[in-house]
Amino acid sequence: MLSFEENADLFPYNTFRINAYARYLVRIKSIHELIELLQSSVFKQNKHLVLGGGSNLLLTDNFDGLVIKNEIKGITTLAENDAHIIVTSGSGENWHQFVQHCVTNNWGGIENLSLIPGTVGAAPMQNIGAYGVEIKETLQTVEAVELSSGRSRIFTRDECKFGYRESIFKHEIKDKYFITGVTLRLTKRNHIMNISYGAIRDVLKSNDVETPTIQAVSDAVIAIRRSKLPDPAVIGNAGSFFKNPSIDAEKLDFIKKQYPTVPTFPGEHGLTKVPAGWLIEQCGWKGKTFDSIGVHKDQALVLVNYGGGKGNDIWNLAMQIRESVMNKFNINLHPEVNII
Ligand SMILES: Cc1cc2nc3c(=O)[nH]c(=O)nc-3n(C[C@H](O)[C@H](O)[C@H](O)COP(=O)(O)OP(=O)(O)OC[C@H]3O[C@@H](n4cnc5c(N)ncnc54)[C@H](O)[C@@H]3O)c2cc1C
Repeated sequence: MLSFEENADLFPYNTFRINAYARYLVRIKSIHELIELLQSSVFKQNKHLVLGGGSNLLLTDNFDGLVIKNEIKGITTLAENDAHIIVTSGSGENWHQFVQHCVTNNWGGIENLSLIPGTVGAAPMQNIGAYGVEIKETLQTVEAVELSSGRSRIFTRDECKFGYRESIFKHEIKDKYFITGVTLRLTKRNHIMNISYGAIRDVLKSNDVETPTIQAVSDAVIAIRRSKLPDPAVIGNAGSFFKNPSIDAEKLDFIKKQYPTVPTFPGEHGLTKVPAGWLIEQCGWKGKTFDSIGVHKDQALVLVNYGGGKGNDIWNLAMQIRESVMNKFNINLHPEVNII
């Protein structure tokens, strides 16, 4: 029997630590419960928000609808041979705990994605990525239920239309499916480890690791992230607020005239990516505080709530930042965070 919480406090469920309430909240622990929910009048009569760990969204107001909190658990091995394992995770599993489960079993492919907050089910939403690795590289399928019909559907990797922090779930079929499971193909030996990031190599070196293991790379990533990123349990934030923009050669030349040392890296479709954090820093925002919200002192890409900040104020700050980057560099920043 489903239980609907009325006027539910969303403070514990969003890493920006915004005080907001939902008209209803329901916890879903199985596909069976999800199907039951889709037949309920509360679902039919209200707009809905599927909620994982709340680490990639900004609540700009109370949510006048139904929050569907995903708690579908379980990790299953579908197939394996000497070299590979195909493993499915329930979408409500904590992503980092799932990564650690794989690392402990010496299954390779997602160790660089250690310590990313949130649930497994949200990982394909924006094709999570870190330290040169994206989930699309190991992802085989996404299992989902269409909310309008209750029908199950399996999305192949191609059907997910992954891009940089993008997928079909954020665009063509936004809010139409509830992701119930994610299936990955991981290596059991001959791991292809990505230690292209200097920071990872530096930590491995200082830990005297000559031949990196899956565990050693995961440990290095965890150490780097702990030293660089604000912990949402201490300071409210949702990680990178904006995506790194890709620009063409003409715009890059324009920037280089004034800033010859602008950092760049290859983008998609022959474009060049410029770190959004660098652009924001050049506009003077880094470390700026406005009452209880601001721009993090070490990471200009991370907007923060020191406590009591309002989602709408954070959104207004983000828009001011976007405008100043547009005025100075003629570059339009796009939020990575989902604005609710
Ligand atoms: C400190 C910090 C560091 C971060 N670092 C990174 C990083 O390195 N790389 C990176 O890519 N991201 C990073 N993020 C962003 C975030 O952790 C990821 O995007 C994560 O996948 C979000 O998971 P979640 O469960 O919290 O999603 P939520 O915030 O709950 O939801 C995000 C969106 O997905 C939808 N959604 C969630 N679950 C489902 C589902 N089962 N079915 C359908 N829709 C769903 C929601 O409706 C919402 O639109 C970071 C965030 C923080 C706070």
